[in-house]
Amino acid sequence: MLRGRSLLTSQMSMSSITIPRHVAVIGAGAGGLVAARELRREGHKVVVFEKSDQIGGTWVYNPRVEPDLLGVDPKRLVVHSSLYSSLRTNLPREVMGYQDYPFLSREGKDRDPRRFPGHKEVLMYLKDFAGEFRIEEMVRFESEVVNVKLEENGREWRVKSNRRGDVDDENFDAVVVCNGHYTEPRIAEIPGIKSWPGKQIHSHNYRIPEPFQDQVVILIGSAASATDISREIAGVAKEVHIASRSAADKTCERLPGYDNMWLHSMIENAHEDGTVVFQDGSVIFADVILHCTGYHYDFPFLETNGIVTVDDNRVGPLYKHVFPPRLAPWLCFVGLPWKVVPFILFEFQCKWIAGVLSGQIKLPSQEEMAEEIKAFYSELEASGVPKRYTHDMGDYQFEYDNWLASQCGCSGVEEWRKQMYYESSKRKRAQPETYRDEWEDHDLILQAHQDFLKYT
Ligand SMILES: Cc1cc2nc3c(=O)[nH]c(=O)nc-3n(C[C@H](O)[C@H](O)[C@H](O)COP(=O)(O)OP(=O)(O)OC[C@H]3O[C@@H](n4cnc5c(N)ncnc54)[C@H](O)[C@@H]3O)c2cc1C
Repeated sequence: MLRGRSLLTSQMSMSSITIPRHVAVIGAGAGGLVAARELRREGHKVVVFEKSDQIGGTWVYNPRVEPDLLGVDPKRLVVHSSLYSSLRTNLPREVMGYQDYPFLSREGKDRDPRRFPGHKEVLMYLKDFAGEFRIEEMVRFESEVVNVKLEENGREWRVKSNRRGDVDDENFDAVVVCNGHYTEPRIAEIPGIKSWPGKQIHSHNYRIPEPFQDQVVILIGSAASATDISREIAGVAKEVHIASRSAADKTCERLPGYDNMWLHSMIENAHEDGTVVFQDGSVIFADVILHCTGYHYDFPFLETNGIVTVDDNRVGPLYKHVFPPRLAPWLCFVGLPWKVVPFILFEFQCKWIAGVLSGQIKLPSQEEMAEEIKAFYSELEASGVPKRYTHDMGDYQFEYDNWLASQCGCSGVEEWRKQMYYESSKRKRAQPETYRDEWEDHDLILQAHQDFLKYT
């Protein structure tokens, strides 16, 4: 069932009049790029603010790490991307690309034709996309948005940006926030950690395995990057101990194929003599704890007088993870949902936003949206889902995509894409070392390429 299913549906308007708006997009990652394209397609006048000097966001690999390796100091010099050097995509390229601009392998120097390519290839794809749709002409590079606030007239947003020390103010009808959410680390709470003398690092600051040579490493987490990083580190470290919330109580088992890597249930506590005790009773003298424990949403520039808050990692209240009812449609968020196929989800969200802003698509009333959100939150609470999982789409992401598509009157997620996603997720769990290079879904690949002919 679609969580937070609409009691009401917004509809395609019958109107032939499209109202162009002056829209600020914050961020030129995969979300901001497709937002810019969809908004301009709908006739809006768009300015994209990008704090770095290029497009691509997360996919711009940066070998530098932050001085605070845990990434908790709010005043630290922030490195945006959390990519590690060896990263290859965890989705097949057919699934990962935007719907109408397939992520095809291309001939050329430095291109990576693999089905699960390295991160540079994703950046090249995003650059191809930006080139094809002339996105860069809308982007103000090296312009960091430092404040977004509703003007006293209650109609316009004042966006303050900083370009190399020069502060600029400009008013917009609407603001679309696409600033990404893989930059501000979440850290595991470990009793006794303050007096533990070892080194701690968050995966946000992991780039290469060499610094872990001959070390005893405890890695916390079991999501996609934890799996990749633990295996990479095991190649150089003395021992790797993975603490996973999803491991059953009292687990302590050596992982097949490795003589130096163990899976444990969670950590019980840490001690000043350098030992770490697991819930399974094992005691490890460790050099490093590596937190692969995810990220926080953060909108340091946004001033809404408490209308939108981040509470235990729930950004809310938001209608369908996009619009805060009291400020809709003039403020909205792209890309908050996780455990998803991101690019197509962004694409559907942006089509919806563009149509709503132009008046072509109607939203329910403020009260109706608020009711719907209330029902959604109650449903989560009744099922025992903590607030921090509000944007975890679990297994209803495609239903959500299709709902968005239906609002826009466009076709939803292709059947082959869904099947391919489920297939590759299954393979990823069963064979984490080889799923990127071995597969059996050849018929789905054929269907995908047949479909791509529409766009190429
Ligand atoms: C380690 C890792 C691996 C991943 N692997 C995959 C994968 O295999 N496949 C996949 O589909 N997805 C993957 N993802 C998810 C990935 O983050 C999304 O695919 C997508 O790139 C997110 O795009 P975004 O635009 O939301 O955010 P980002 O890519 O983070 O872009 C946000 C942009 O906003 C800019 N910005 C931020 N604040 C400001 C400001 N105040 N002013 C101006 N500009 C600002 C940033 O500089 C950045 O360019 C991975 C993520 C991580 C962290």
